[in-house]
Amino acid sequence: MPDFSIGVDLGGTNLRIAAVSATGELLEKVTLGTKLALGRDHVIDEMCSAIQRLSDKYKATGEFLGAGIGVPGLIDLQTGMMRKAVNLPGWENYPARAEIERRLGLTKTGARVVLENDARVAALGEQWMGAARGVANMAVLTLGTGIGGGIVLGGRIWHGMNGMAGEFGHVTVEPEGYPCACGNRGCAERYASASALLRMAREAVARGEAPSLARAASSDAEFGAKAIYNLATQGDEPARRILQSFGRYLGILLADLVNVLNLEMYVIGGGVSSAWDAFAPTMFEELRERSIVYAATAPSDPLRDFSGKEEGASAQTASRSGQETIITRAVLGSDAGLYGAARVSMLAT
Ligand SMILES: [Zn+2]
Repeated sequence: MPDFSIGVDLGGTNLRIAAVSATGELLEKVTLGTKLALGRDHVIDEMCSAIQRLSDKYKATGEFLGAGIGVPGLIDLQTGMMRKAVNLPGWENYPARAEIERRLGLTKTGARVVLENDARVAALGEQWMGAARGVANMAVLTLGTGIGGGIVLGGRIWHGMNGMAGEFGHVTVEPEGYPCACGNRGCAERYASASALLRMAREAVARGEAPSLARAASSDAEFGAKAIYNLATQGDEPARRILQSFGRYLGILLADLVNVLNLEMYVIGGGVSSAWDAFAPTMFEELRERSIVYAATAPSDPLRDFSGKEEGASAQTASRSGQETIITRAVLGSDAGLYGAARVSMLAT
């Protein structure tokens, strides 16, 4: 048995924990409902006992290297405390890392606990074992309720000065656009996220332009991004237009990133990325028009499957040539956060 780490994904609805070997094998995964309402200490209790259980089980055969915890919020990397934790009441300015290390009895061992932003660990996961395996320099955009981002350089998360690098969701794509909770207007996540899809659908319905969306919205209590995507793939014109608009804004954001960063690969993940076929064509069109760097480095067929699932057409092969900018879909789904969280603690030791 190889050495291993524990990766934790602390989301708003689930607490997921996995033992991952140093060679990237997912040894075991457990999902616990996070009862956030029961408070921070309850969540930490559950998390620590699950980490303890898994590490005890695999310790018999390999060294426990540490635990990485992906959390939704901004983290002070020096102190291991969360500076901003909108969805985790009670976690702000609480010494989470120190407390978890103490409970796990790690203070005297070499194993460490690392707290990291959830979007950054997802990026590292895709780089380590996902779509960008073997690609040292890349970025991930996670399209969910908002847009999460992470930049990986030389196989490590690029934090910037204080861990705030990668806030792709708050790049302006529409100068006089919709206000964002961050204080800016026209942020990318107001135009190219699941909530943006929903807003565009509601607006089209209100204008009386989208009868099929109106029907779906009134009959489906859980009407959301997925329903809009389903209608688009069935050829519904208003739904298709919404996803094309989504693709254009994502293309504007990517054009900025490609121009500034000139990375080998950009991976698009998150729930909405399953609508790839509906938004990717306009995304690539916009990108090619707006980015001089992309125009000079675009692969001949950008819509080809670079995800590494198809032998011989993998992104690794393309990017190894060092000449092409690859934009592709994530492959690990929600496990990206678990791989990345485990990896982050391996890199720390
Ligand atoms: Zn914003």
